[in-house]
Amino acid sequence: MSHILTINAGSSSLKYALYEAAAQPRVVARGKVGRIGGAARLQPEGGEDIGLPEGTDHGGALVAVLEALETSHPEARIEVVGHRIVHGGPDHAAPIVLTDTVLTELEGYCPYAPLHQPHNLAGVRAAMAAFPEARQVACFDTAFHRGHPFVNDTFALPRAYYEKGVRRYGFHGLSYDYIAGEIARRAPGLSRVVVAHLGNGASMCALRDGASVASTMGFSALDGLPMGTRSGQLDPGVVLYLMDQEGMSAEEISDLLYKESGLKGMSGISNDMRELEASDHPHAAEAIDYFTFRIRRELGALAAVLGGLDGVVFCGGIGENSAMIRGRVCDGMAWLGIALDTEANAANAPVISTGAVRVMVIPTDEEIVIARAALALS
Ligand code: AMP
Repeated sequence: MSHILTINAGSSSLKYALYEAAAQPRVVARGKVGRIGGAARLQPEGGEDIGLPEGTDHGGALVAVLEALETSHPEARIEVVGHRIVHGGPDHAAPIVLTDTVLTELEGYCPYAPLHQPHNLAGVRAAMAAFPEARQVACFDTAFHRGHPFVNDTFALPRAYYEKGVRRYGFHGLSYDYIAGEIARRAPGLSRVVVAHLGNGASMCALRDGASVASTMGFSALDGLPMGTRSGQLDPGVVLYLMDQEGMSAEEISDLLYKESGLKGMSGISNDMRELEASDHPHAAEAIDYFTFRIRRELGALAAVLGGLDGVVFCGGIGENSAMIRGRVCDGMAWLGIALDTEANAANAPVISTGAVRVMVIPTDEEIVIARAALALS
């Protein structure tokens, strides 16, 4: 039987899933390689971790994944490989078959997403080398948001920057695409919905009838909510101060904003919400306060964009698992029509509301979105 492999290559990890290429792709294996570039480990879901040689890169990680799949699923014939690509630039509003020309174009977006795009493309190259005959498909995190109206696509900079591609792209599009499909299936007719994707990366998206109209993320995956290690929204004056007064280079500021800020930087303890929830340190409490404050603020803003609210969806590691965070976000939101069912919330139930606004917990699945798109283009 023909199979689809999905690859989601991040800065230090490579997630994979193997599907049977049926009308409804069925997952037969999934897992990830973590700590690429350091003490890399292959972690197949439901299997034993395997240590990889120190310094294994993305190519080596993919080779290890393929060897493991060959052992566990010798029958698999991989004819299509679907890739998560963080940036599709201004023009790609849909998945696309990868060719050398497309790869060259996508390399041009590396300066827009320097911490993600080069790794995504390294994953593509490794897969092209491993499967020269397979069709390679790119699925963009930005594509789902490309229909935003101009006011949500632009910054108030001189027009030339907009033309150059300095725009509000929005990210986590594969997750929102999946959630939009699930909303249509579980609650058909739910029109104005705010989705909170709360994981190590975090953003929110306003959906009108399943289409994205606004996102908290902008030009880069730094904007909007605070995240595990990313600052979220920041006055650009802070960046000028860091350059002028603290003498920091672009690279140092990038490290600060992407890797040392957010929950980790505020708490000084961890980027991991479970650890912060378990801590009794006041800085952990303040980091959680800031996280929930920003989500509540964006919820109000996105409800205003939508002209009202019919639903809220929580997803991502925190959104799917933390009753405490969901409870704090929804607390005192009766003015918006939100009333939480505390028992359902504590149980991570699919519907956790009693009020007019339907509040849902939906486990997201970016891999199946990639697999379906890759299949559709093959
Ligand atoms: P993700 O990037 O979607 O895998 O989400 C990772 C985040 O989810 C980390 O901050 C985890 O601490 C958080 N997370 C996972 N499970 C729980 C849980 N049961 N309670 C609170 N946070 C959780």
